[in-house]
Amino acid sequence: MSDSASLLSARTASVAPSQDEAALILAKAARFAPPGPRTAEGKLDLIGLSREALTEAVAELGEPPFRAKQIWHWLYHRGARQFSEMTSLSRAFRARLEERCVIGRPERLRALKSADQSEKFLLGLADGERIETVYIPDLEEERGAVCLSTQVGCTLSCRFCHTGTQRLERNLSAAEIVGQFLALRDYYGEWPTPREGEPRRLATIVVMGMGEPLYNYENVATALTILMDPEGVALSRRRITLSTSGVVPLIDRVGRELGVNLAISLHAVRDDLRDELVPLNRKYPIAELLAACRRYPRLSNARRITFEYIMLKGINDSPADARELVRLIAGIPAKVNLIPFNPWPGSRFEPSPEEAIRRFAEIINDAGYAAPVRTPRGRDILAACGQLRTAAA
Ligand code: SAH
Ligand code: SF4
Repeated sequence: MSDSASLLSARTASVAPSQDEAALILAKAARFAPPGPRTAEGKLDLIGLSREALTEAVAELGEPPFRAKQIWHWLYHRGARQFSEMTSLSRAFRARLEERCVIGRPERLRALKSADQSEKFLLGLADGERIETVYIPDLEEERGAVCLSTQVGCTLSCRFCHTGTQRLERNLSAAEIVGQFLALRDYYGEWPTPREGEPRRLATIVVMGMGEPLYNYENVATALTILMDPEGVALSRRRITLSTSGVVPLIDRVGRELGVNLAISLHAVRDDLRDELVPLNRKYPIAELLAACRRYPRLSNARRITFEYIMLKGINDSPADARELVRLIAGIPAKVNLIPFNPWPGSRFEPSPEEAIRRFAEIINDAGYAAPVRTPRGRDILAACGQLRTAAA
């Protein structure tokens, strides 16, 4: 690294980006705001409301806070779809809820199953937009990960990503993000929420579907807080991984407010190449991104940052790239997830040959980092990483 680069990383390592920068990103997100929590008929969707907002809504209906707690239990522990199921509430209150509120769910339009058992769901939203959500079972066990989308499309145009060719229509609401998980729970019949220690089929969440989660931070944060709530879906933050292409000013907030596992879409070890592959790098270059990773709270060997690295033949897959990667992440408790490139119609890259991936992984392993190769899942149904796209081609 040149002196100026090391100075830069030394400087940025200790200084978090200004709050103004984060505020600016949040203000921009407002331009792509999702529809509000009321339906066309003016009814309030209770899904996606924070606990505080639900308690307020219940107060407006003239009921005390413990009723909100009961409703929460029905919505997120029992998976109730109808107010009539909420038998611990009085008949009169249920009737009032029926009149004024709804329990929202995205509509399941299509489910496609891959030969490898991953399943991709096309979900329809109230305003006609569509998103995709994927269930990826572990190969040997009866459990798996749910891959959630956070936006309809994406503004970021990473060169290798299918979603990036679809312009951003809008952000998803907290209800729509939570709703993806609930819809899959409905589909697989996993209600009520399994007790602690009991096996769970929908065992982990990866926020790695369509969109850049940190360009929709507020809704993502509300949704994950709901999904982590111990009196509902109760997924611990250790079972949730959020992937970002590197929106540096908000990474600190993820660490402070959510504390979920962090995955960084790194993909290149030099700024000139990363500028091309992940254009956001022009705003937040590698040194700043890694500085934010170094600041991420509570990192340890048991809690590591995942660096995602897509293997593109002849572009970023040389042994020199691997050695530079090891040098860049030195000192960060990390693992490197090597992702064979998943092609999509019109994509211009080729996946690295197996031999190149093996060599790359070896160099990283020798430096003491795990470097699992992400087995492509659901490629045959365009459900693998970077293949999701809901707009017509
Ligand atoms: N926007 C976020 C999260 C969604 S993308 C992000 O970029 O991190 C989820 C992961 O899939 C990212 O690591 C992304 O780089 C990767 N990905 C995108 N296109 C891909 C492709 N064609 N093949 C393999 N992985 C891809
Ligand atoms: Fe957007 Fe992530 Fe795809 Fe880049 S890789 S275009 S940030 S979804």
